[in-house]
Amino acid sequence: MPGDGPLVLVHGGAWDIPDAVLADHRAGLERALRVGRRAVEAGRAALDVVVEVVAALEDHPAFDAGRGSVLDRDGQPQLDAGVMEGETRRWGAVGNVRGLPNPVRAARALLGADGQARLLVGEGAERFAAERGLPAVSPSALVVPREQDRYDRLRAHPDFGSAAFAGQMDVPRPPAPQGTVGCVVRDGRGRLAAATSTGGAPLTRAGRVGDSPVPGAGFLATPDGAASATGWGEAILTVQLCARVVGALAARPPADAARQSLAELAAAVRWSPEPATAGLLVVGADGRAGWSFSTPRMARAWWRPGQDPEVHV
Ligand code: ASP
Repeated sequence: MPGDGPLVLVHGGAWDIPDAVLADHRAGLERALRVGRRAVEAGRAALDVVVEVVAALEDHPAFDAGRGSVLDRDGQPQLDAGVMEGETRRWGAVGNVRGLPNPVRAARALLGADGQARLLVGEGAERFAAERGLPAVSPSALVVPREQDRYDRLRAHPDFGSAAFAGQMDVPRPPAPQGTVGCVVRDGRGRLAAATSTGGAPLTRAGRVGDSPVPGAGFLATPDGAASATGWGEAILTVQLCARVVGALAARPPADAARQSLAELAAAVRWSPEPATAGLLVVGADGRAGWSFSTPRMARAWWRPGQDPEVHV
């Protein structure tokens, strides 16, 4: 995608998105783009724009973030989110929170905190969010019928909870990650920011933290580029996928950098029981942007001033 001027680029996950939910995904992306567009047109900083866009995606039940998140083995949502500003390299992240409808806002609040914590997890993160006046809800308020049904079906599997279900190849495995959300923005002054938010993968162990709240893995913004990733969290953590793609921008156009980084991910991670698939968005300091995915589909959308928004699933 050619550069110049502001850009809002979002994703709603990379996976085998079924036809039946395409319209929902499109509606969620369109809504988030409208929020981003309004924020850019109001002259807000890239950091604020990514937070508003990701909060809108968290609020939309189509995605695995905020309300609509998948459930862990205990039948609870387990949420991670991170946000970063390129110019200052300030970032904040929360992991393993259960009762925050918008974890990205708690991550954002950490940017203004005393600098002694950038990543907070669990109860401490929830206490911090409450101190900052952010709303909390009962975890069950974030559970949608689609995910309760999925959990009930998986729970009924005879191997549920056994070592076999947890990772051997001869029984059905829990479904792949799906529907994490993210956004990268270049604002009117050329500032960059990135944010990612997720409910993780279905049936994760309690206490599992994925790539999404780890800078360089699930998100990154530096003066050179901003990226957001989705896919197998453990694999993405292993190769530091967002650091890789932002680093690759020095030598390659954004879409090539993203493709190359995904190829490196697949080649490097051999221990994963399934191929290490993922999706990536990236924007460079010059405003050129691109994406790539190694899954059947990726929900993605973008807007630049003077152009019609584009939504693809
Ligand atoms: N990367 C996320 C995680 O592993 C899941 C996803 O992107 O769908 O927590």
